[in-house]
Amino acid sequence: MEAQRTLRRSVSCVGIGLHSGCKVTLSLKPAPTDHGIRFRRTDLNDFELPATVRHLAEFQLATGLARDQVSVETVEHLLAALVSMGVDNVVVELNSPEVPIMDGSAAPFIYLIQEAGLKRQPKPRRYLKIVRPIALSRGEKRIALYPSDHFKVTYSISFDHPLLRHQSRTLTITEESFVEEVAPARTFTFLKDVEMLRQNGLALGGSLENAVVLGETGVLNALRFEDEFVRHKILDAVGDLALVGYPVIGHLVAHRAGHALHTEFASRILEETQAWQLVEMPLEPAAAPIGAPVPLKNPAPPAPKGAVVV
Ligand SMILES: [Zn+2]
Repeated sequence: MEAQRTLRRSVSCVGIGLHSGCKVTLSLKPAPTDHGIRFRRTDLNDFELPATVRHLAEFQLATGLARDQVSVETVEHLLAALVSMGVDNVVVELNSPEVPIMDGSAAPFIYLIQEAGLKRQPKPRRYLKIVRPIALSRGEKRIALYPSDHFKVTYSISFDHPLLRHQSRTLTITEESFVEEVAPARTFTFLKDVEMLRQNGLALGGSLENAVVLGETGVLNALRFEDEFVRHKILDAVGDLALVGYPVIGHLVAHRAGHALHTEFASRILEETQAWQLVEMPLEPAAAPIGAPVPLKNPAPPAPKGAVVV
């Protein structure tokens, strides 16, 4: 059976919170089988918050978790990197309420995970396999999951902006495709919204270093992909869907959705118990033995600023 995985060793980096603008240290640490992904606030007596929909909290423009009034915000890019690299069990330590924004993409987190290395653990991984369609819509925003043999995402967006009238992409999400096609895509914002965000005390750490900013007719900084915007929406959806607590096997189709709809949908999935089964997948050929390092399938992206291996 495909085995659960954790990190081979701990890694850390320093960045800033997008909304607070405050400096934050993030550490990723190995964890035992069936532990899952759990956040730990080292500034609050190591208070733990499991990364599941049970602890979803309302935050503007990002996905956050809260329990007993302790919160962790902007978790989605890190979660997307962890699930796509097949990290089932990990402790995510933070000394502040926000996961650092890094460059606005998941590439720096991929780098950290690759630096830590991956280790197979002596227990099979369980997947949430979709067997009947599940759908949710709110006005023009729609999201659905359909049965499929792979985890696949189709995303389409349209905004009232010359560069964003319509973008659509379908991608089968594997470790390789995520690292190459999705992880480097950065978050984006509209210049006209930046002032409003600042007045509301949000995006205080935001800059051209960690977001693509759209002016009236074009972008203020160079794009990494022509359709970087829809690729980033795929990244967000993968990260938000991780809150179901299992890797999903199914075809996710989303149109004009966002964090609020992604996370409401993640909760809905767990309620619709007729629509899925928990399954264990056959062992991949040439898999490494238990405890052995898992070979990396991609060259590491460039090191993020402030990344250290501890
Ligand atoms: Zn995002």
